[in-house]
Formats: sequence, C-alpha cells, structure tokens
Amino acid sequence: MENLKQDVLYWSKRLYQKGLMPSTSGNVSVKHDGKILISRSGVCATDMKEEDLVLLDLNGNVLEEGKKPSSEKLLHVLIYETRSDIKAIVHSHCPYITAFAAANKEIDKHFLADFAYCFDKIPLVPYYLPSSMDLAQSVADCFEKYSCALLANHGVVIGADTIQNCFYQLETIKNYVETYFAAEILGGAKMFNKKQIDEIKKLRK
Ligand SMILES: [Zn+2]
Repeated sequence: MENLKQDVLYWSKRLYQKGLMPSTSGNVSVKHDGKILISRSGVCATDMKEEDLVLLDLNGNVLEEGKKPSSEKLLHVLIYETRSDIKAIVHSHCPYITAFAAANKEIDKHFLADFAYCFDKIPLVPYYLPSSMDLAQSVADCFEKYSCALLANHGVVIGADTIQNCFYQLETIKNYVETYFAAEILGGAKMFNKKQIDEIKKLRK
C-alpha cells in the first residue's frame, strides 16, 4: 500500500504540472486489495501528501476516522462497482477539455491518429449536481461502454488499469483539444474519413 500511495502522489503531481488538475479541483483514486484509496476533499494535487489519501471500503465507507474523502467519492465507488477491470480513476476540470463539457459537446471528431487509436469518442453525460447520486449513477452507466466521460458543465472522468495510464490518456485528450482549438484559427482541422479511422482502429490489435 505504501508504494501505491507514492505512485498516487507522483502521478497527482504530474497531473497538476501538466495543467490537468488546476487548484484544488478534481480528485484521484485507486482500487487495491478490496479497498479504495481516494484524495481527500479540497486538496491540491501537487501538495498532496500520504495523509491526504483516504482509505474507503468498496461501498465508500471511510475506514480512517476523522478523514474527509473527496466529495465525488460516490462517482469513484460506482465506477469501480460497474467495471472490475478499472483500478484507477482521475476526475479533472482541465480547462480546454472542460470547454467541450461546458458547450455540452462530446468529443467525437477524428483528425489525430493517436487520439483515434486510443478513443472512439469521449461521450457526454448530462448535467447533474456535482457530488450527487444522479451524477455518479449516470457516469457509472456511461462506463458500461466507455472508460471516460465528459460531465456537462463540469469536467471529465477517466478510468484505467493504473493511475499512470489515466494520466497518459488524459494528456492525449488535452493534446487533442488544444490542437483542435489551434487548428480552428488555421481554418479548422481536416477530418479523417471513415476508412482512415477504421485503418487506425485496426492498429489497436
Ligand atoms: Zn468535479
């Protein structure tokens, strides 16, 4: 568990440094040995220390007295319940990615090979009050098919086998949206056709 904590702290710092988790927004968790380790409420990712990680059981009950987990713990709990293959979750308010969430637009256009290789799309979940059961349930429903979701007027969630892979995937999405907005200035990105997308998807195997 100590190594896992250090892993979470390391990748949380990287998330902050890359602008993927500004200020005290967002939260991270990992699932290990039938328990969930989640960031506490109101902590900045780069300042996080071991004591800022809170141990939960798989129902979201706090196992360390006096500690206050992230207000989005339900969202993490329900995703882990839905997907046994997911062992790490990052929820972020990264501005450029959140711009799509703010505009209530899913990310489904393909013009970059690395993005098309990693993702079919980043689906949009309707707006629900942050920290609410409705939000957690609708994100968990989305995770039955996808391993990521845009939360309308809120942010983005990504799940993977490790927190390191959450970081890489979130960075891939960030690079995509930044390229998208920059390409708009140049007249807009030239989209792949279906054949080109299918060819890229075949490389996944
Ligand atoms: Zn949030």
